[in-house]
Formats: sequence, C-alpha cells, structure tokens
Amino acid sequence: MELRLILGDQLNELHPWFAEPHSDVLYVLMQLRSETDYCQHHVQKVVGVFMAMSAFAQQLRLAGHHVIEVALDDANNEQAFLPNLQRIIATSAEPITCWRYQFPDEYRVDADLTHAARVLNLPCVVDDSAHFLTSRDGFDSLFKPDAKVLRMETFYRAMRQRHGILLNADGSPCGGAWNFDHDNRSAYDHSVAIPEPLRFTENRVGDWPERIQQAGVATIGTIGDTLDWPITREQSLAALSFFVTQLLPNFGRYQDALVHGNGHLFHSRLSFALNLKLLHPREVIARVEQAYAQGQANIAACEGFIRQVLGWREYVRGFYWRLYPTLKDRNDLNHTRTLPSWFWTGKTRMACLSEAITQSLQTGYAHHIQRLMVTGNFMVLAGIDPVAVNAWYLGIYVDAIEWVQWPNTHAMSQYADGGHMASKPYVSSGAYLHKQGDHCRYCHYSVKEKTGDNACPFNALYWYFINRHEAAFAKNPRMALVVKQWQKRQAPEKKAVLDHAETIFARMESL
Ligand code: FAD
Ligand code: SF4
Repeated sequence: MELRLILGDQLNELHPWFAEPHSDVLYVLMQLRSETDYCQHHVQKVVGVFMAMSAFAQQLRLAGHHVIEVALDDANNEQAFLPNLQRIIATSAEPITCWRYQFPDEYRVDADLTHAARVLNLPCVVDDSAHFLTSRDGFDSLFKPDAKVLRMETFYRAMRQRHGILLNADGSPCGGAWNFDHDNRSAYDHSVAIPEPLRFTENRVGDWPERIQQAGVATIGTIGDTLDWPITREQSLAALSFFVTQLLPNFGRYQDALVHGNGHLFHSRLSFALNLKLLHPREVIARVEQAYAQGQANIAACEGFIRQVLGWREYVRGFYWRLYPTLKDRNDLNHTRTLPSWFWTGKTRMACLSEAITQSLQTGYAHHIQRLMVTGNFMVLAGIDPVAVNAWYLGIYVDAIEWVQWPNTHAMSQYADGGHMASKPYVSSGAYLHKQGDHCRYCHYSVKEKTGDNACPFNALYWYFINRHEAAFAKNPRMALVVKQWQKRQAPEKKAVLDHAETIFARMESL
C-alpha cells in the first residue's frame, strides 16, 4: 500500500495523483496543532481550511479513493506530521510500503517533511505540486543566481511570452502595451454600483468554532454561522464565474480605489480558493483572457487582473523560494517600534485604519490597497518592527500563507529587504489616501493639516520617515525628488513637522 499525504493547502483535484482511484493507494489528510499554532490565525482561516479539507476528503471518497482524515480532536492525533505518519504506518491493516507527498509551498513544512522522510524507514517520493505555472525555483531561468534586483515587470513579461497570454499573433502585447497600470488608478466615482459579494450561505460552520476553542487553539477575529469563503471546487468555480461576469469589467479602473463602508469593491476575493489550490491559476487566467477575447471586459481590466495572478502571484512565490532564507531577518530600515494594540481591535480614530482593521478582524479579508497603502503604509511610516508586522499579516488574513504573505509584507510593503523587490518604499502621506478614497470625510483627523492635534497622522509620519532615511533615499532615483522637496523646506517648518511626529509616537496607543 502506498500512503499519499495531502496538505491542507493542496486541495487540487486536478492534480495527476487523483486522475483515477487505485486500490493500493491510501490518502491521508491531517488537522494538526503544528499547523494551527505556528502563528495565531484568524478563526475563519482555521475553520475554512479544516472545512475545505473535510469536503475534499469526501469528494475523493465519492470518486472511489481510499482516504483517512485525522481530525483535530481525534484522541489518537499526535498533532504533527511525523508521529501521525509513524502511527498510521504502524497500525495499517495493509502494510505501507512507500509514501509520497507533493512539494510544500513553505520552508517550514518542507523542513518537517524532509525530516520525516529521513526518519521513516520507508521509500519516499516527492512529486511536483503542479499548482502553479512556475516551479519553486522558477526564478532560476529568469534571474542570475547573484542578481540583486529582481523586478516583477521583467518576470511578468517573460511569463506572458512563455505562456502566450494576451499576445497578438505577431507576439506583441494585446492592446499595444504590456502594462495598463496607469489606467488602474481611478478613485471610485459611483458611476457603477458595486455588487454584493457572492457569499456561500450553505457553508454552515456548525460546532467548528467550539471544537477549535475546546482543543485550545488560540485564534483572532470573529466568525458567524456561515463561512463566506468557497470551500469546494464547485463553489470556487462559482466564485470565479461571478468575478468574471459581475466584477471584472470594473476591476482595472477601480483596482486602487478605497471606499468607506466597502471592503471589496471589484476585487475577486479568489485568494483563499487559489491558495488552497481549489482553483488553478491557469484556469483563472484563461477565463479572464476569454472574457477579453469576447469583448466582455477591456484590456485595462483583463491585463490588470492577469498581472496579479500570472505576474505578482507567481513572482512572489519565486521570490520566496529564492530569497526567504537570506532576507527573512533583514531589517534594513532598522525599524523597532511595537505594533499599537489597536491593530488587534480596530479602535483608532483614524477612519481609514479603523475600517481596514475592523473589516480584517470581522472577515479575514482586506483588498490590496487596504493592505499596502493603509495598514502597511502606516506600519512602515511608524517604524514598526518587521517581525511584528509579518506576524500580524500572517495571522489576520484567510489567504495568508508564508510563501505569499512574507514577500508582500517584508519586501513590498515594509521595504525591510533593502529593495530587492520594490524600487522604492510604498509610502504616502494622507494626500494619496484622500485622492484614492473617501475615508477622510468620516475621520476625526483633518487630512489637510500637517501639524496640530487634529492633523492626519500620516502627514507628519511621512516626512519624519523621509527625514530619517534621507541619506539612503537621496541615492534612490525614485525617492530623490521627494528628498529634495524636504530639503528645500525651511528649518522651522521641518522642526514643527518632526516635533509633531514625536508627539504622534508618544500617543501612538491613543491615536
Ligand atoms: P484581487 O485583487 O482580485 O487579485 C486577484 C488575485 O491576484 C488574488 O486573489 C491573488 O491570488 C493575486 N494577487 C494579487 N496581488 C498579489 C500580490 N501582491 N501577491 C500575490 N498574489 C497577488 N495575498 C495572499 O494571497 N496572501 C497573503 O497573505 C497576502 N498578504 C499580503 C500582505 C501585504 C502587506 C500586501 C500588500 C499584499 C498581500 N497579499 C497577499 C496580496 C494581495 O493583497 C491579495 O492577494 C489580495 O488582496 C487578495 O484579494 P483578492 O483575491 O480579492 O485579490
Ligand atoms: Fe486616514 Fe488621515 Fe484620511 Fe483620517 S485623515 S482617513 S487618518 S488619511
């Protein structure tokens, strides 16, 4: 009998493993404390992954496969891969003669399973996961091993060409440009209504939250009676269809917009399904390309979306596997402040932050601009220790798995990696947030004011950040202009801004 271990984020029924049932193959899925406890996760993430694993196991059984599920609260569960494997192998009615697993996406799990393979006295085969368009070492054919700068745009164009996506017959890019980013920056103008997201009210969570609590798993955030996130392939395909028909036409235009009272706009909310591998990126890209070919959405929307999935998503995976071991402890901006406690409650008078955090706690989701330009922007301007920042992002989102969370947080958002990914830090004063959204209207603070008790904290923190890193940023062509603007200011004006920033730091907990 061959044992095949299925990880909780490998629920891909299209994988060659599942092409047909074999009487001599036993599939094993485990709900483990080693997975619930490596960081404090959002309760919807823990429940969602476990429900999806059970649904996947059931699907496999219906297709005729042999499946064992090790439940979280099973008395025999040893709560880690190796001891559970040892127990199952020792007690199996039919002798287990070899075991297999698919390449995990995280270093942590990779190390666990490599260790298990060494300890178990059994032949072991590791298969490609086939969940991406690139392999784990996908950067190797694109960037030299010692390349210091690994830009997404280089990677993305190569991927478009390699996979023939959004290309004309002569190989040129559809629409006459590789990137329509400049068309993706509108604020929301209410000219089209934002559809309500597709919710899966049939996903009743039952006693899952209590079981998790009784098992002693500490979680963050809240959960209702049903789970909004797709937990089966059928639901994930429905979510994809909903996105393509209802949201894609306006995705590009409002991709960078922020709207008070709306935390999803025209974003797909597909990341949970994609990261659990319920959907394959290839089929997501194909649906969007088809929508473009059929005239259902324009090039700015389709290219903008495909850039996220074919570009950013594959790119950050390559970045993680190439650079995580060398960059994970870097803190190039030397940021050491603690994360304000209101990041765990949403209780701040800053409307943009309060809404992004409260929504994240309630739903386990925030769209990209909330993550990058609201919470991430504030954290980097406030000089928060990247270790705390990474822990917050890894915990709070239902789609957070280290391979995708860490590059986005550590490198893109916090610029803690010294600029291997981003050519400049993603930072702004309140003016950008005001331009992209309407939160300022509902805020205690005034976005126009730079100093004083009512001034938007982003303003002074922004210039404090530029001042603090002035020497380094002056050498960066994309930051030099803003440094010059700062340098041109009169000394008293600079002092007033910097002094005000100090008062913000002093009352960080009560902002
Ligand atoms: P859409 O806006 O509809 O985009 C479509 C898909 O493109 C997403 O589902 C996702 O799979 C992919 N995508 C878009 N942007 C990125 C990106 N920068 N990197 C990788 N894939 C991308 N994404 C995660 O999946 N998990 C994370 O833990 C995560 N942490 C993040 C932390 C920070 C600080 C930032 C700035 C971004 C993070 N992202 C993460 C990327 C992105 O914000 C989310 O993928 C996206 O918001 C998910 O919502 P959506 O499915 O509606 O995305
Ligand atoms: Fe955010 Fe500043 Fe606007 Fe308030 S005033 S919503 S803190 S940008």
